[in-house]
Amino acid sequence: SSARSAMPIRVLPPQLINQIAAGEVVERPASVVKELVENAFDAAARSVDIEVEQGGLRLIRIRDDGCGIAREELPLALSRHATSKIASLEDLERVTSMGFRGEALPSISSVARLTVTSRTRGERCAWRVTADGTGTDFDVQPTAHPEGTTVEVRDLFYNTPARRKFLRSEKTEFSHTETLIKRMALSRFDVGFSLKHDSRTVLNLRPAETQAEIERRLGLVLGDAFLENALTVEFSAAGLKLSGWVGLPTFSRSQADMQFFYVNGRLVRDKLVSYAVKQAYQDVLYHGRQPVYVLYLELDPALVDVNAHPAKLEVRFRDSRMVHDFLFRALHRVLAESKPKASEAEIT
Ligand code: ADP
Ligand code: MG
Repeated sequence: SSARSAMPIRVLPPQLINQIAAGEVVERPASVVKELVENAFDAAARSVDIEVEQGGLRLIRIRDDGCGIAREELPLALSRHATSKIASLEDLERVTSMGFRGEALPSISSVARLTVTSRTRGERCAWRVTADGTGTDFDVQPTAHPEGTTVEVRDLFYNTPARRKFLRSEKTEFSHTETLIKRMALSRFDVGFSLKHDSRTVLNLRPAETQAEIERRLGLVLGDAFLENALTVEFSAAGLKLSGWVGLPTFSRSQADMQFFYVNGRLVRDKLVSYAVKQAYQDVLYHGRQPVYVLYLELDPALVDVNAHPAKLEVRFRDSRMVHDFLFRALHRVLAESKPKASEAEIT
């Protein structure tokens, strides 16, 4: 209460405003990587190359071959609440891009040294912008770079020591990034990914076009045994579509660490979804065991609110009952069909 009376109300400086926003979005190197790869997806990139040094604490560099950012828009890209992805409430209510908040780049620039280099199609040279951390001042210089964008993030949390203290070892931080990239690689089979840590290539995935390439990518993420022990899901009803793979009950795990659920291409964790899957497995899974699945739900973007979480890890369904029932029915049917002959009469 003494603090309240000692200080007048004031508007915070832009850098501090961005640092507060960064607190919600940028928890660790992997969260920076997530935002930057999402930007590459939104730029229609066909390949995304990720380089990380010292677990991402020293450097995160992401290069894409997407549409690039025009010179005059580079300072805007680093400005708060500036986005090319939505322009109105109607757009927000049916958003199909990964980003829309216009917060990632300004947030990152307030807690790290950020450089964005970009070249749009037909442009004669590339342009590079650096943010000085105040949140308002940007320096744009000409440079060489192929069509597309490279974002470099150095010395994450150099100016927010309290945040830096929460980071784990370089190895652990890198493993978060590796897991994230694998998960994102399953959301976009048509995009190539490479991941390097301290100059060591950890992942190298070409765009997967054939069924064999898709299966190879799945095997890399979930282990080669997964597909031999999985059922294909392909189910639609009332405008909802569910596809992907569910592991056989005999392929279950003791942990819920191999459960991937994407809503309109976005990896989400959702209690309702986990509950529906769990129920569908109830009769066939031993108590305490966790199913393995990679599932893609597609529905009208107007029926799902993606603006429910700053890091966009959660979504809200307009009609959650309907989504739950749909998931349960679809998975229950697939699992029932996999049962031995004797139980076939029970199929509904
Ligand atoms: P958001 O993604 O929510 O729009 P960001 O802060 O992540 O906000 O990015 C701001 C803007 O910068 C984007 O709207 C986009 O126009 C541009 N941008 C960022 N990254 C890229 C990229 N890799 N390629 C092309 N444009 C990009
Ligand atoms: Mg973004």
